[in-house]
Amino acid sequence: MFRSLHMKLVMIMLLLITSLMAVVGAFLITGVSSFYIDSFYEQVDRTFSDAQFVSTLRSEAAQENGAERLQTIMEANTGALGIDYNTRNYYILDGVTGTFLSGSDETSGRALAATPNLLAARNGSVGDASNIAASYMDAAIPISGGENSFIIYILDNRETVSELSSQLFQIILQALVIGLLISVLLSLLLSKAMVNPIEKLTQGAERVAAGDFGETLDVESADEIGILTGTFNDMSAVLQSTLSAVENERSKLDTLFLHMTDGVVAFDPSGSIIHCNPAVDDMLGRDVSGEQYHSIFGDIFPLSHVLQLQRPNFLESELRSGDRALDLYFAPFSDRDSGGVLVVLHDVTEQRRQEEQRKEFVANVSHELRTPLTNVRSYAETLRDSGGDIPEELSNNFLDIIISESDRMTHIVQDLLTLSRLDSGRTEMCMARFDFNAAIESVARAVELAARQHRHTLTVSCETLPLVTGDRGRLEQVMMNILGNAIKYTPDGGNIRVTATSDSDYIYLDVADNGIGIPVADRDRIFERFYRVDKARSRESGGTGLGLSIAKEIVEKHGGKLSVVPKEEPGTTIRLTLPILQPRHD
Ligand code: ADP
Repeated sequence: MFRSLHMKLVMIMLLLITSLMAVVGAFLITGVSSFYIDSFYEQVDRTFSDAQFVSTLRSEAAQENGAERLQTIMEANTGALGIDYNTRNYYILDGVTGTFLSGSDETSGRALAATPNLLAARNGSVGDASNIAASYMDAAIPISGGENSFIIYILDNRETVSELSSQLFQIILQALVIGLLISVLLSLLLSKAMVNPIEKLTQGAERVAAGDFGETLDVESADEIGILTGTFNDMSAVLQSTLSAVENERSKLDTLFLHMTDGVVAFDPSGSIIHCNPAVDDMLGRDVSGEQYHSIFGDIFPLSHVLQLQRPNFLESELRSGDRALDLYFAPFSDRDSGGVLVVLHDVTEQRRQEEQRKEFVANVSHELRTPLTNVRSYAETLRDSGGDIPEELSNNFLDIIISESDRMTHIVQDLLTLSRLDSGRTEMCMARFDFNAAIESVARAVELAARQHRHTLTVSCETLPLVTGDRGRLEQVMMNILGNAIKYTPDGGNIRVTATSDSDYIYLDVADNGIGIPVADRDRIFERFYRVDKARSRESGGTGLGLSIAKEIVEKHGGKLSVVPKEEPGTTIRLTLPILQPRHD
């Protein structure tokens, strides 16, 4: 009930007025009583400190009818003592017994009580002690003259002051009621003036809290509330710009997370997923959205272990997911209570594959070169150690082997150089439009002799092909390699057929043989460097295992493709697909 500022202000005003009136009333009533009492004793004191008056009293008291004489004198001085015969009276009492002798009111005089002042006077001293708490005020002055002793006793029943006090009390009460009414009205008005801007400010704050920054509050005064309203407007403007900056950053981050190739997954300290981008599901091969940390990465590092890390420390690990190789980075973000753990997944499958290929390549090169080198060395040593004992025919044979092994090494090194140039892009292609039919015929003529030596039947059946843009020399080298392989890997007396067709975009050249064929599992791999299905056979026929990989590189540089045509019948068909026009590289 008293929570609103209105009511608080009203209550404060009421309490203030009430306490003020109570204090003022108490002071006023006590002040009036004190004044009345003080003036009574002052009158008594002034009258009885007059030595002549007192000596007159004494001399009159010494007379036989002292009491009447004293009464006469007192009657003459009623004005000075404020005797009104109603609330204040005087009494002449016997000085020893305190019996009433005469006075201004006989009835009350006969019923006088023995007050401390009266008792003091009966003992011979002046009784003028005041007592603010008493319901009366009195003074008793002993007067002795000759044999006689009397007490002049003045008593005031304080009715006047009581009446005055009660009137004052009523006035104060009325003033209090009026004051309270005025203060209630005033405080209502005042609180309205104070509370209205605060209410507006509250409504503004509620709007801002709900995210509505549209309106600014009017500054209606230059007081503290006006300053507060202005500051609030500034604060909401800063908040708005900060929020939009944060929002902007967040959407940038969201887009980044969504499209980045690395997987990012964030967990809260309990291990639940807070954020996860699609790359994570992709890399782990399942939807991890409902999972917990321990079911995904618990085997690698416990969550508590990562949470205890001090930034910027992080942990690294590897994970194999299906045929993917993943590098994992674990790092805590923020503190233990409000932060969590961030795991970044980096797909290194391709990198690992390339590393493997590189290692394999180096091993292959070393191996390929070591075999002919060993042969050259052993034959050369045999010739040297024989000291001319070997028949000439045999030594010529040895020398032939040495020469052929050297040729083989030169061949390998040349092929490697060609590949390296193709890899590094240092090989310039001499692009020109040329007649592809003519190129096929020229290659067929070149291999004709070799085919005949193996008693192969070489058939070339090509439709009329459009002119092609490309490096004729290198494309002939590719065809030569494919045809050479067909001759090499087909037992003598085989059939080798070259066919070529085209559509609007491509030329398709197929070289089919009925030779030993390539097992299905090896078909994709024959274009890899040094890959040979049957190593011994290939080496025997002078193959290096690099021919098709060079051919593939050349064809790809032309935007074309080399492939093994899948077919049921024995033998192999290699297809060269070549675009008629080269794609523009600008
Ligand atoms: P090589 O110098 O060994 O012939 P290539 O790169 O030209 O190397 O060929 C790679 C491998 O592919 C060969 O070793 C061979 O095993 C296989 N191959 C290529 N062409 C044929 C074919 N026409 N028939 C059977 N096997 C083939």
